[in-house]
Amino acid sequence: MINPIIDQTVIERLRALINGVQRIAITCHKSPDGDALGSTLALCHVLRRLGKDAVVVTPDMAPRALEFIPGVRDIVVFTKHEQRARNVLSQAQLLFCLDFNAIKRIDRLAELIEPLNIKRVLIDHHLDPEDDFDLSISFPEASSTCELVFRVLMQMGLLRFMDRHAASCLYVGMMTDTGGFAYSCDNPEFYEIMASILRRRIDRITLYNKAMNTFSADSLRLQGYAISEKMQLFPEQGASLIVLSKEELERFNYNRGDTETLVNKPLAIPNIYWSVFMREDDDKIKVSCRSQGDFSVSDICARYFNGGGHENAAGGDFFGSIDEAVARFHQVLADLFPDVNSTEQSTQHNTTIDNHE
Ligand code: 5GP
Ligand code: MN
Repeated sequence: MINPIIDQTVIERLRALINGVQRIAITCHKSPDGDALGSTLALCHVLRRLGKDAVVVTPDMAPRALEFIPGVRDIVVFTKHEQRARNVLSQAQLLFCLDFNAIKRIDRLAELIEPLNIKRVLIDHHLDPEDDFDLSISFPEASSTCELVFRVLMQMGLLRFMDRHAASCLYVGMMTDTGGFAYSCDNPEFYEIMASILRRRIDRITLYNKAMNTFSADSLRLQGYAISEKMQLFPEQGASLIVLSKEELERFNYNRGDTETLVNKPLAIPNIYWSVFMREDDDKIKVSCRSQGDFSVSDICARYFNGGGHENAAGGDFFGSIDEAVARFHQVLADLFPDVNSTEQSTQHNTTIDNHE
């Protein structure tokens, strides 16, 4: 049985909000991932089937690797269709905020949303949500926002509107946010929800392969290079660090999403239980962290990298040079493991390599 974990008064308030409007906008965090795209597109699809004018507006583009998710092409992308995004938002009568907990996670879209005099509904599973929302459905213990969208639809009695298209979207988010059913999916209800999704006859294997196991040749080569040449291990502290400079990314024709799962790879090594990946961006260093067990990387990202996230999957931004970001990582090691001499095990590799051969 799938327990109705959302307070029924919240569900009834949500029903009243939806019934009272026609035009609904749905948004998610910048650099949308499988859960952000899956949850917004599934909800949008169901709302359209209910006769609403629902539109997904994202702060920026979906990575090419996720363009297979049904409905991605209908998204109004702020960085690409700024005027359309402005029009949709200015005409919206209700706004859904999915898969983020703080308005700054939607980048410049925040400026557009701030002056709007419409109700905001949060559906999210990140820790410590802001209280900027009129209705908040926040469950950090949930596997994904897609799981929560399913639960909302179930408790509203709307599952009959969850067709194959919406179910495929939810499947992608529940799969990608659990690392392909590896973590954050201990709750047996997760699989009961999955059973309901599978009954919609989704093309599960194709979705799995596209989401979890499809990389361009450049992306595979970049990941191989990163692991072979750039992975530093700190066994005494159970840590791994991979840093890729812009020059290195360009050498492998980097596209957004190409390094999406790289940060997980060092966790395959016994006794490495937390992993940090730093990628040099135009104006900052993007930091990604993963961990196993009760070692929380969301605290590290919040304290040292202007970010946050979940206990086992978090991220943030570092404003400074690569060397300064690496120094910040060593600061983390020194603070968390004051008694350990923080030398790495493997041979140190430079951030730039010679063009030998
Ligand atoms: P990823 O490493 O895949 O970029 O992000 C993993 C998780 O960390 C995301 O689901 C999100 O919860 C969180 N996260 C990533 N980047 C940031 C950030 O800049 N700020 C905050 N608050 N959370 C982030
Ligand atoms: Mn998520």
